[in-house]
Amino acid sequence: MICNIICNFANQFFLFMKEPDRQNIEEFYRTVCQSGHTVITSHIRPDGDAMGSCLAMMRYIRSLGGNADIVLPDRFPQSLGFMAENHETGHIISAEDDFGRASELFRKADLAICLDFNRLAENRCGKLAPLLERFKGKRILIDHHPAPELERFSLAFTETEISSASELLFWILNEMPGTGSDARKLPAGVPEALFTGMTTDTNNFANSVFPSTFRMASALLEAGVDRDMILDRLYSEYKERRLRILGQLLDEMKITEDGVAYMILSKSAMKKFGIEEGETEGFVNIPLSVGKVKLSCLLKEDDGFFRVSLRSKKGISANRCAFEFFNGGGHEQASGGRLHIPEDIRDISEAAGYIERVTHIFMNRDNAQNIQ
Ligand code: 5GP
Ligand code: MN
Repeated sequence: MICNIICNFANQFFLFMKEPDRQNIEEFYRTVCQSGHTVITSHIRPDGDAMGSCLAMMRYIRSLGGNADIVLPDRFPQSLGFMAENHETGHIISAEDDFGRASELFRKADLAICLDFNRLAENRCGKLAPLLERFKGKRILIDHHPAPELERFSLAFTETEISSASELLFWILNEMPGTGSDARKLPAGVPEALFTGMTTDTNNFANSVFPSTFRMASALLEAGVDRDMILDRLYSEYKERRLRILGQLLDEMKITEDGVAYMILSKSAMKKFGIEEGETEGFVNIPLSVGKVKLSCLLKEDDGFFRVSLRSKKGISANRCAFEFFNGGGHEQASGGRLHIPEDIRDISEAAGYIERVTHIFMNRDNAQNIQ
């Protein structure tokens, strides 16, 4: 692919990014243009931000005439199926479904773009970890989580003071020569994918919103994004069972004296209600609507462990709590991890006791220790 590199970069991006990124932007464009085949990838159990940033990246590269496929560790949830066009589904491969094809694409590619995660560990990229590890080509990182493994990437865009990987990618694509800071010039489908990714990671502008986020939203609305349609697809097409199981979970929710709310979702309840991957998205935020709740925990039973989701109010670090007690990490106010059986707790009946014990320690020590 041959591109002319026109280094006519406008100022908007650099208003909030650090100065050296000007060079990075040029290098990004050059690398993408020179690549013969790109694999675009994201984290396990891809969410709206993972899908939005991956789809926007693929659409952008394809608009330049390049070859790109999205290779994910596992399938993306049905609830986000609307984000991909029919003709794109052949270019979205999950290692869970077809590890052979995923491996082949990694062998063929000379560039891997990693979006919305920043470590090559198995707990972030699942079955793709060994493929990314052994990958011979260049790796580019575009992410908004703390503590990136910078040494693993030849080029990295990483910023935590931003809503989402989709927003970060927006500011990068906005500076590409063909866009020239005019979002209306973004290739077809890119604005919608980025807007959807940002919307899900901010819970529809409820958290992680920065001045730049509104600027992005405004530019994308001007570019013709149909926000009403996106909100309908995201928040008005749930299955009834989602609300039913949420009702049960909230009914059983415990709130401790330390201001910690926790809910435990067993495999048997998920089976009973027929709950699928992705359908419990957003549940963990709800208990924070109670004044006295400062930290909310949702445990989902899996094979040999619980998946843990944590959300906190300002001043309490969900990230710190996830790191110290749940083998995980994430953002300051939104984190996750795992509780292993039998390493952390002997069996599922001990989960409630474990949460109460560790959160009691966590919430009662010097608050400064709880902020990263
Ligand atoms: P969720 O609760 O939506 O599954 O995850 C919230 C955030 O926590 C994610 O965006 C991700 O940054 C982080 N996270 C979730 N699970 C893990 C994990 O196992 N390890 C680490 N380091 N971070 C996680
Ligand atoms: Mn994200």
